[in-house]
Amino acid sequence: MRDNGIGSWTTRRARMDPHGVAFVERGRALTYLQIHQRAERIAHVIRARGVVAGDRVAYLGYNSTDFIATMFATAKLGAVTVPLNTRLAAPETAYILQDSAPSLFIWTGPFASIVASPEVTALGLQTLRVEPGDGESLSELAGLGEGESVDDGATGARVVTSDEPVELPDLFMIQYTSGTSGRPKGVQLTHGNITWNVYNLLVDVDIRSDERSLVVAPLFHTAALNQILFPTFLKGGTSYIEASFDPAAALRLIESERITTLFGVTSMYLSLRQQSAWESTDLSSLRSALSGGAPLPVPLLESYLERGLMIIQGYGLTESSPGATMLRAADGVRKVGSAGSACFFSDTRLVDPTGADVTVGQIGEILVQGPNVTPGYWHQPAATEVAFTDDGWLHTGDLGRLDDEGYLYVVDRVKDMIISGGENIYPAEVEQAIHSHADVAECAVIGVPDEKWGEVGRAVVVPRSGSSLTAEDVLAHLDGRIARYKIPKTVIIVEELPHNASGKLVKTRVREEFGTTNAQETP
Ligand code: ATP
Repeated sequence: MRDNGIGSWTTRRARMDPHGVAFVERGRALTYLQIHQRAERIAHVIRARGVVAGDRVAYLGYNSTDFIATMFATAKLGAVTVPLNTRLAAPETAYILQDSAPSLFIWTGPFASIVASPEVTALGLQTLRVEPGDGESLSELAGLGEGESVDDGATGARVVTSDEPVELPDLFMIQYTSGTSGRPKGVQLTHGNITWNVYNLLVDVDIRSDERSLVVAPLFHTAALNQILFPTFLKGGTSYIEASFDPAAALRLIESERITTLFGVTSMYLSLRQQSAWESTDLSSLRSALSGGAPLPVPLLESYLERGLMIIQGYGLTESSPGATMLRAADGVRKVGSAGSACFFSDTRLVDPTGADVTVGQIGEILVQGPNVTPGYWHQPAATEVAFTDDGWLHTGDLGRLDDEGYLYVVDRVKDMIISGGENIYPAEVEQAIHSHADVAECAVIGVPDEKWGEVGRAVVVPRSGSSLTAEDVLAHLDGRIARYKIPKTVIIVEELPHNASGKLVKTRVREEFGTTNAQETP
């Protein structure tokens, strides 16, 4: 077989373990052979629509096995998946479609109004509607019968889509960054980037062939796809695919399906813990709970530890597919608050603004390199050039410090740092201190303009349900915990904070919504 790409994974898995259950979706099991057959048939459909190697295929839909099969099918043809964020408005979706210029735009029923919007129709794209949930809709369009694309159900699969000779440096996906800090850029991820990321994860996390992984985070983001779904697939385990995250349903599934591995971002772990069924749910089947993509408040980690569950924290970004560092389970308690150390096939460094390495304990910008790091942004050579050092390290735009054992503590994003009267304030540190108040569910600290200090901190806090937390309580809690200059000048109590589709707090929106609100200044 000439194909070394991700499209070949269904072929290889179907050959190795045809009757193993690859996915469970709404209670329905799909074997490795069945997902392979479905991917093969979808490859026929999209090839009949003129898709060839190098073309982009955009997909707009919730998590589903159709979505997964379409990604594999696109990869089999050497074409490139552009997964679209389901929470974007029509002009934002149109921007990504225009930028990526797909030769086929596959969409599902719930997004009809986006597809019919003037911004999207103006692009004149070739579209293909599929019905989410019926599972075989794309295959039916191919006019092929069950099993027609494979030789022999018992031994696996002959590739009849005449798989292109896909190689590891070829593009697999263009993943638009979530835009928590500006206009989305298309991060190019190759078959190799993602393969090496999966290897990195498998070195650190004990994913087994009898794994039962719960996929609740959106698959249009790198984390759910590359940190849980693909590693489970490669090992021959079973992924339970949920269309989207419903915390009550997730708890029920963990108990009833004896889920062994879970991936979530911080806000998901927070909302699981907020459920009334939290205390009574049997979590004993869970061996791994993975998180990444946002700071993990220590009190949250501790509340899971009380239930016997260590949340394994990683640091990364779309540009590194996404894993860059990982705090191995064995270090979880000893190095609490750290995002661990570099993944096996990756390296990290911390540098000052001149590019010189900082010393232990000093704050510097995190640089990453490795085979999991993107070759650059789609059609943006200038942005790509700025993102990399001359010797190929990626600037992450994040600040961190290393301890004397090389463990990384993510401090904050460079752009979120507040400079108040010449002092640097790292909002993430203030947020950690606020989080240590038992009545705080979530919080965000932003900088707001100030005549005297240039900029001052403002905390926007969501109390735990049922608590009567006040701004004064928050300030009293911070008094003596952090230096006076770091204590926010104002505290606003709100019911909820803005999140993106993957559940991450969106600081730009917090600034827009609460940065100009008149808030009582505290003495
Ligand atoms: P955009 O790049 O458009 O701003 P985004 O930052 O949400 O969007 P992602 O690639 O999804 O894009 O997220 C990566 C970012 O998430 C990192 O650059 C970092 O700021 C943050 N992050 C990831 N892991 C951690 C962690 N363990 N602790 C703290 N922050 C983290």
